[in-house]
Amino acid sequence: MPPTYAKELRNMMPDQLPAIHMPGQKVPELLRGQKALVTGANSGIGKAVAIALGHAGADVVVNYVRGDEQANEVVEATTQFGAKAYAHRADVSSESDVRIMFEKMISTFGTIDILVNNAGLQQDAKFEEMTLQQWQTVININLTGQFLCAREAVREFKRRGVVPGVSCAAGKIICMSSVHEVIPWAGHANYAASKGGVMLLMKSIAQEVAPYRIRVNSIGPGAIRTPINRTAWETPDAYRDLCRLIPYKRIGEPGDIARAAVWLASDQADYITGTTLFIDGGMTLYPGFEAGG
Ligand code: NAD
Repeated sequence: MPPTYAKELRNMMPDQLPAIHMPGQKVPELLRGQKALVTGANSGIGKAVAIALGHAGADVVVNYVRGDEQANEVVEATTQFGAKAYAHRADVSSESDVRIMFEKMISTFGTIDILVNNAGLQQDAKFEEMTLQQWQTVININLTGQFLCAREAVREFKRRGVVPGVSCAAGKIICMSSVHEVIPWAGHANYAASKGGVMLLMKSIAQEVAPYRIRVNSIGPGAIRTPINRTAWETPDAYRDLCRLIPYKRIGEPGDIARAAVWLASDQADYITGTTLFIDGGMTLYPGFEAGG
């Protein structure tokens, strides 16, 4: 690449680039007759995923930990095209809450076909100032919460097995990971450790349960416009700085993740297990080298 072009590219900001057009197509009805549980589904990515799964024909449990009103709004949006849904309050880091949530789902919907392990949070601190409580809260919700929900789901998938006509697989788990399962993140050691843990949890479960036709994958979002990372996108300066890390030069939208989750949960993706699908506008492509280093 000629050096002047490289320099130009490095300095190009979103307002100098082609206008952003988002996909306009409806979510395809790939999940008719399936039952899904989405954790942390009353905000951000989980909310978009729950609604998209409903629009794709799945009946959905909308898990949340606080915010009854937002959870009810998600239920309403999810059921817009005829799917069933209800909201269920449970802390994913509590073994008893998780067990009760699955018992209720199985008695209400009969079974579970799709688990989206999405609930997660950040509690950031400089490493030497990070408290044990900040460490444990993030690990308990982001990693142990995924373990507890995946374990209940696998038990039900194995009990029930494949139901031809519903799905080629006995069950599908999608773990919401992050680009920080591979990119270290200063000031966020607890969060990066939790997502690195999710990566090998996902792969280990995937390896163990594959013979039962259970598929386990992760989605690794980059920067997505949700409350969790508001400071990174809410001012024009912050947004410009963020775009230096994104070769595609736009922040991700929750819908970017939701469309991929529908596809990954569907039989269209039947031979895919044990992988992380990064949805990050190229954030994992070493953007520091985008203009030739
Ligand atoms: P968000 O704050 O909008 O939503 C998080 C959801 O998790 C909320 O519904 C919250 O109520 C729920 N939650 C928190 N603690 C819980 C608990 N103990 N039990 C049950 N639910 C709980 O955040 P988001 O950006 O939508 O994040 C969703 C997932 O995506 C997280 O796992 C996050 O790590 C991951 N992620 C987000 C981004 C991003 O840029 N937004 C990037 C990479 C990964």
